[in-house]
Amino acid sequence: MIITLDRKVSSKQKELVIRKIRELGFQPHISSGIQRTVIGVIGENAILAREIFEAMDGVEFITPISQPFKLASRDFHPKNSVVALEDIRIGGKEIVIMAGPCAVEGEKEILEIAEAVKKSGARVLRGGAFKPRSSPYSFQGLGRQGLEYLREAKKKTGLAIVTEAMEPAQLELVAEYADIVQIGARNMQNFNLLQEAGKIRKPVLLKRGMSATIKEFLMASEYIMKEGNYDVILCERGIRTFETATRFTLDLNAVPVIKRLSHLPVIVDPSHATGDRNYVAAMSRAALAAGADGLIIEVHPHPDKAFSDGPQSLNFRQFQEMMKELKHLSSAFKRKI
Ligand code: PEP
Ligand code: MN
Repeated sequence: MIITLDRKVSSKQKELVIRKIRELGFQPHISSGIQRTVIGVIGENAILAREIFEAMDGVEFITPISQPFKLASRDFHPKNSVVALEDIRIGGKEIVIMAGPCAVEGEKEILEIAEAVKKSGARVLRGGAFKPRSSPYSFQGLGRQGLEYLREAKKKTGLAIVTEAMEPAQLELVAEYADIVQIGARNMQNFNLLQEAGKIRKPVLLKRGMSATIKEFLMASEYIMKEGNYDVILCERGIRTFETATRFTLDLNAVPVIKRLSHLPVIVDPSHATGDRNYVAAMSRAALAAGADGLIIEVHPHPDKAFSDGPQSLNFRQFQEMMKELKHLSSAFKRKI
């Protein structure tokens, strides 16, 4: 349930409402807008306490939320949420491009990639230091060393860093180096990891599970938000279908569907979705047309030598060409890259 407070509510009245929410064993989640404050009341059967709150001074009205995700829903926060990192705003007018290798492979390599993607207009450098590989015999990432290299790249270029944490024990370390902590598709329903990510003070990039419905995806984001971290960016990265021509099927429906159901920013990963560099530019253009707030793209100087995901990685020239095109396109959508 959502409690909308009166425009003229006093701080004392607001305080009493919050105290009552806690007294009844629920959790208050406060969203203060310019005009009004709304409070999300989270807890089982919170709606049964509706009349208690309706009778309180300073309460204007109560809205039940029928969705299983509440803090992520547009009912709770009608305006688009904007996740802010230093000078970058994700979910605003700018379409934010994140780019880099699948995995951090070495210091020299990541510095070279960072310079190149920055030159083409990327704002965030991606690169896994902890890699969730389907085979236990594949390269698993450089771990802490990889994080150090990412930090160097940030120092040299000013790019923000997005990198993955695979388990709760890695969160603190990853959050120390990352500007955005990624939770990968394979961990979208690792509820323990989600909850712990809700306790860190860094934005979280949550990727859609390859077999997750949009509703499950939004419920996963709710696990993070419920712990107090509202800076969640959702990423559509393709789902499993019967189609085998591409690695996954990019579900671009998810962009407008999520935008309608939720206030959270949505970005698209055409690299993992298609698994094939030949389709990355086309699906990037399509993602912008669908209303995505950003893209995350795999880029490697020599894709044929990449430790992982070479076939879907663009080389520098291909990335640069694609970015040129996307910049033109973004202005047609009254946005900018
Ligand atoms: C990645 O972005 O590095 C990755 C492994 O993607 P996903 O979790 O979507 O498979
Ligand atoms: Mn990858």
